Amino acid sequence: MTAAHSAHNYHPLPVVVAEGEGAWVTDVEGRRYVDFLAGYSALNFGHRHPALVAAAHRQLDRVTLTSRAFGNDQLGPFCAELSGLLGKRMVLPMNTGAEAVESGLKVARKWGYEVKGVAPDRARVVVAAGGFHGRTISIVGFSTDPEARGGFGPFTPGFDVVDYGDAAALASAVTPDTVAVLVEPVQGEAGVVVPPPGYLAAVRRTCDAAGALMIADEVQSGLGRTGHLLATRAAGVDADVYLLGKALGGGVLPLSAVVADADVLGVLRPGQHGSTFGGNPLACAVGREVITLLADVGPEGVLARARDLGAVLRARLTDLVGRGVVGLRCAGLWAGVDVDPAVGTGREVSEGLARRGVLVKDTHGSTVRFSPPLVVTEDEIAVAVAALGEVLANGV
Ligand SMILES: *Cc1c(COP(=O)(O)O)cnc(C)c1O
Repeated sequence: MTAAHSAHNYHPLPVVVAEGEGAWVTDVEGRRYVDFLAGYSALNFGHRHPALVAAAHRQLDRVTLTSRAFGNDQLGPFCAELSGLLGKRMVLPMNTGAEAVESGLKVARKWGYEVKGVAPDRARVVVAAGGFHGRTISIVGFSTDPEARGGFGPFTPGFDVVDYGDAAALASAVTPDTVAVLVEPVQGEAGVVVPPPGYLAAVRRTCDAAGALMIADEVQSGLGRTGHLLATRAAGVDADVYLLGKALGGGVLPLSAVVADADVLGVLRPGQHGSTFGGNPLACAVGREVITLLADVGPEGVLARARDLGAVLRARLTDLVGRGVVGLRCAGLWAGVDVDPAVGTGREVSEGLARRGVLVKDTHGSTVRFSPPLVVTEDEIAVAVAALGEVLANGV
């Protein structure tokens, strides 16, 4: 491998991908794998979805980058179509998920000072333990993962961490200076941790009572992963601010967004926030095609597929509970599988699955995550779960 010159900030499985199509990738030796990680949900529509690749090609032949110093003819339609899809009024386009989170936090602070009337430099944001929101200094500063934050201080002040899923702890952490609560509706990197029923509704009530913004980080949970456009809405709750990323760029390029109403995003005025690449025409053209795919709410659409196939995935994995699987959490086409530590670490299980032609990634300890592209078939799910069954029965 030629990894000697890349920083060692990842510990990849020993698979070197050369090509991808749909739910499958082929490595440099011609071996095929079914991809049950899907770029941590950036590849919700699979590798090289024909409509997304075609949109990228069309735009490559027109114009790719303008910077925001000028307008471009994809930005306006992208923002209009995304705000229409989510039923909010405004979109702030950025590139990566971490940027969307940072931007959402900046907007919440400014909103806190200008609209809520918090005294200067007093704004606080409540976040949940075990969460994952990206890798910037501010974000890792409120992470509870020692690996993520260790050695990177000093950190940005103004964050209060409470246990995820504990509505009472959240309510008691909120003060008059709280401008926002930032929460994942399902904690992805933590291992697909689904909060107790009623938790998100309780977060909503706490925010309403405190006059704080509810910010839903749907970078991984949103755009179809749970079988719904937004996991928050699936729980019957509407956040004030949605953070999107990963799948928004269709697995083609980075594209993220902060989506909210004008009373919130309207606090940003010219010169106060920006990004050279944010809202570039190439990303927006692909994003518009992603929106078109998501807008199909029919029985053949990606959302319905994710719900139907999610039920298949859950049923098949449930068969392994007690046969090496000691914990299982599912949300749509998304599963956190805790393997009996006697079988192996999550890493060893992932390596065992890779040897059997199935790509997944461990999260913490002995947990592996299954998040296939939403275009996966029932047969491919059967193949992947059978491979896990084999690892559990015969060892990694
Ligand atoms: C991946 C992720 C992010 C960060 O996205 P990047 O594009 O890697 O910066 C933020 N929030 C959640 C919930 C994520 O899963």
